[in-house]
Amino acid sequence: MQRINYTIMNFILFLSLSLSAGWVWSKSLKVVTTSTDLESLAKTIGGERVEAQSLASPKQDLHFVDAKPSLILKLMKADLFIENGMELEVGWAPLLVHSSGNPLIQAGAQGHLDASAAIEALDVPLNPNRAMGDVHPAGNPHYLTDPENGKRVAQLISNKLCDFSPNDAEYFKQNLAGFDKKMDLKIREWIDLMAPYRGVPYVSYHKDVAYFAKRFGLNSVGEIEPKPGIPPTAQHTADLISRMQTGKIKLIITQLWHEPRTPESIAKNTGAKIFTFIQFPGGVEAARDYIGAVDYNVHQILNLLSGSAGETH
Ligand SMILES: [Zn+2]
Repeated sequence: MQRINYTIMNFILFLSLSLSAGWVWSKSLKVVTTSTDLESLAKTIGGERVEAQSLASPKQDLHFVDAKPSLILKLMKADLFIENGMELEVGWAPLLVHSSGNPLIQAGAQGHLDASAAIEALDVPLNPNRAMGDVHPAGNPHYLTDPENGKRVAQLISNKLCDFSPNDAEYFKQNLAGFDKKMDLKIREWIDLMAPYRGVPYVSYHKDVAYFAKRFGLNSVGEIEPKPGIPPTAQHTADLISRMQTGKIKLIITQLWHEPRTPESIAKNTGAKIFTFIQFPGGVEAARDYIGAVDYNVHQILNLLSGSAGETH
């Protein structure tokens, strides 16, 4: 009996020490994001105290992702779900979140974070009209292409992780401060590098680099899509070629998931160069994380502009 009491007392002592040390029952927060840019930011702030994974691959168009059952399984185990918001994932993410039956991450719950709450939206229409097929009825949702918005979203994620796990708050805040410091240096460097090309005109396939262009001073003159999400038509493409020839526009920006035929045809008729923008970390090997993706885009555009596309400037 005496022996059993000692065993129990030792166990209670171990339990209280462990709880006060805060490690034995602590587990990583399971974070599921819709995209790899949000995944990268969650990993940067959460460090080894979160497990973050993205539902979409970096080579997928976030407007159109297949709502596969394997994605529901990921959401069933999530403590925190982070979405881009502004209707970017409206065609698939709400269905998956609902189907997961996970009460922690449903809209309005503590574990459901809409990252767009941190940013100021561009292109917000006065009269949203989804009937026309426009997939940007709430404004332009591709805000993470601007690195300043990356900083804002990192702050939002840090706040949320601190709410979830107050014991780890100092750790998350330190990670955020480290990220901010690195970003401030890089943003200054990127702006300086791009400065000689301010005002260079470009055409993009989809209206998804507007925030990047605004930050770095590139000038949008139109899209290959007649409206966001509407495939190109012969008439629209012909008009665009004519405008590009007149304006001597030599830069076309597309993405990994767009068909290459139309941009190539436009390039052939205008002498423009095509740049495949990497919106999401992991889209190419060189763009490993959020900072890496912006860095890749800036340097690739610079390479291209310092060639023939820069002659117009
Ligand atoms: Zn879009």
